[in-house]
Amino acid sequence: MSYVDEVYERVVRENPSQPEFHQAVREVLDSLRPVIERNEEKYRREALLERITMPERQILFRVPWVDDKGQVQVNNAFRVQFNSAIGPYKGGLRLHPSVNLGIIKFLGFEQIFKNSLTGLPIGGGKGGSDFDPKGKSDREVMAFCQSFMTELFKYIGADVDVPAGDIGTGAREIGFMYGQYKRLTGKYEGVLTGKGLTYGGSLARTEATGYGLLYLTQEMLASNGHELAGKTVAVSGAGNVAIYAVQKAQQLGAKVVTVSDSNGWIYDAEGIDVALLREIKEVRRARLTEYAAARASAQYHEGRGVFTVKCDVALPCATQNELRIEDAKALVANGCIAVAEGANMPTTLEATEYLQKHGVLFAPGKAANAGGVATSALEMSQNSMRLSWTFEEVDAKLQSIMVGIFHNIDEAAKAYGMAGNYVAGANIAGFLKVAGAMEAQGVV
Ligand code: NDP
Repeated sequence: MSYVDEVYERVVRENPSQPEFHQAVREVLDSLRPVIERNEEKYRREALLERITMPERQILFRVPWVDDKGQVQVNNAFRVQFNSAIGPYKGGLRLHPSVNLGIIKFLGFEQIFKNSLTGLPIGGGKGGSDFDPKGKSDREVMAFCQSFMTELFKYIGADVDVPAGDIGTGAREIGFMYGQYKRLTGKYEGVLTGKGLTYGGSLARTEATGYGLLYLTQEMLASNGHELAGKTVAVSGAGNVAIYAVQKAQQLGAKVVTVSDSNGWIYDAEGIDVALLREIKEVRRARLTEYAAARASAQYHEGRGVFTVKCDVALPCATQNELRIEDAKALVANGCIAVAEGANMPTTLEATEYLQKHGVLFAPGKAANAGGVATSALEMSQNSMRLSWTFEEVDAKLQSIMVGIFHNIDEAAKAYGMAGNYVAGANIAGFLKVAGAMEAQGVV
């Protein structure tokens, strides 16, 4: 059996009931085959793949808190410190009822390669809880965040592990967590990113993932002879990534006709009204039915369906495995030329293969959504220097990082005879840097 298959079997055996983690490992290891085969003996002796697929540390803890009725609630929480070969652990905190250890491990594993691709010195980690901030009062969210941090603070630090936002963790949650960290440690340090602008946050961090997604998409289209301006774009999700993806796509001259949340989706033939979307999602924290109620050109549909709409470019920006084989078939039938992942692993393996086989340009999340973590790393730099850069300075750095990532993954794919396969390119480029650092640091 090949070394890659041996390691994949071991991952499945030792991590039962974690299908998302298996899926992420499978995708990465499959595309690393040509790299591993060139040096199979050496990597096997070093147990490099066993080490890279096994987290350095997994922290599981309970979070007790009191709700508004005086009832004690308890949630499960996780922080997986996956790999610190190239820098302190870095990765978001997801607050969503679907969160479990397998989902956090898939996200932490992906994060290793994504962070490597940014070119910045950050290792991979991820965390979160099955707490659902939706429908909770501000006081309940604060009670949860303070209790969560009362345990987590023991394991993190500006040079150790620097968490950030993710699904369900926005500026409000980061603020409550930061306040509690400061209170417990007495330290005013850049231990979290995505902070508010008045207490160490970076301009353009809120916009970074969505903007970065569009910078990379534009570069991928241009290098394949297409222009983003004038294209019709389908976006899924209506959260942080989706909102700023819609905004930047429109600034670059494209027309975005869809957004979605976990209840349903909007088709707006005149193009999504970003100001209205922001008001509904960021201010009122309401459902998309309110968008349709406020705008005559919008139709609301229950359930899934964003990718059945005719579009040139599809940007899945909600959650994992939302773009399935039937969606891939609809996209191809409708003449879609490019898919770029704003969310983490939103496309199933089967759908990814179908899109690639049918000539659709496909940018995987670990490259396409790396703008968020890259800007988080810029926030860490500003905190260390006790300085704040302007929006334009951060945005310019973000743009150059995303263009750099595209060329890095494009060249890695070409170097291994897989021109145009950006999944392989991203995995190979991300892996080689981390593997080199692990080898240099010995058996640790
Ligand atoms: P938000 O919580 O701001 O938004 C998530 C959006 O996706 C919401 O519209 C939500 O709908 C929808 N959604 C969440 N879960 C599901 C589900 N199970 N089924 C259908 N829709 C769902 O999160 P973000 O925008 O921050 O994150 C979106 C994705 O991007 C995630 O995969 C995240 O890991 C990834 N990402 C985020 C980065 C960031 O900087 N924020 C950086 C890199 C990647 P509803 O409101 O109804 O729940």
